[in-house]
Amino acid sequence: MSNLSYQILPNPDDNTHEVRLFVDGIDWIEAGHLGLDPPDLVRELTREHRNHLTIGRCGCGVLGCDDLVVDVQRKLYSVEWSCLNRKSAVFDAEHFDSFVATLVKDNSWEPVGRTVERHLNEIFAGRKTGDGYAFDWSSTRVEPNVMTLSVTKNGHQKLLQFSWDGETVASALSRGQQFLQKQFND
Ligand SMILES: [Zn+2]
Repeated sequence: MSNLSYQILPNPDDNTHEVRLFVDGIDWIEAGHLGLDPPDLVRELTREHRNHLTIGRCGCGVLGCDDLVVDVQRKLYSVEWSCLNRKSAVFDAEHFDSFVATLVKDNSWEPVGRTVERHLNEIFAGRKTGDGYAFDWSSTRVEPNVMTLSVTKNGHQKLLQFSWDGETVASALSRGQQFLQKQFND
């Protein structure tokens, strides 16, 4: 059985991070592809019915451009990954599950802006603005010291913004709570 491990690196080109995946110590994603941003990979690894798993994205950074996808075969005691031009990898199912659990809990890579996004995404999840727009995502990476929230209604997107100090989670969360009460009162 193979060993699966990861390393999370910043990708300054598009202001994301990437998760490199190592099978028995060898980079399984290989040069030319970027790893997924950590929350994207977590979403891939934790969704139901995952016969295919996107583990890498095009070197340009865009998901859906030239994804690296593996076929996943889950059996009682093993998880097998196979894809073109690579030797299949077989993991012990318990080892694989604990790998996923560790990655899901790992926030150690986050700059403060990403920690803020994670908290705000939880706070705003499922909420709607007074005029019926549903929350999609938050980003500290659009403008410095500005929190950007995407909301949509019938396919129409709006971006809402509020300021924060750019440095502390506490500042962002208290500004976020005020914003929530004022704007998301549906
Ligand atoms: Zn591309």
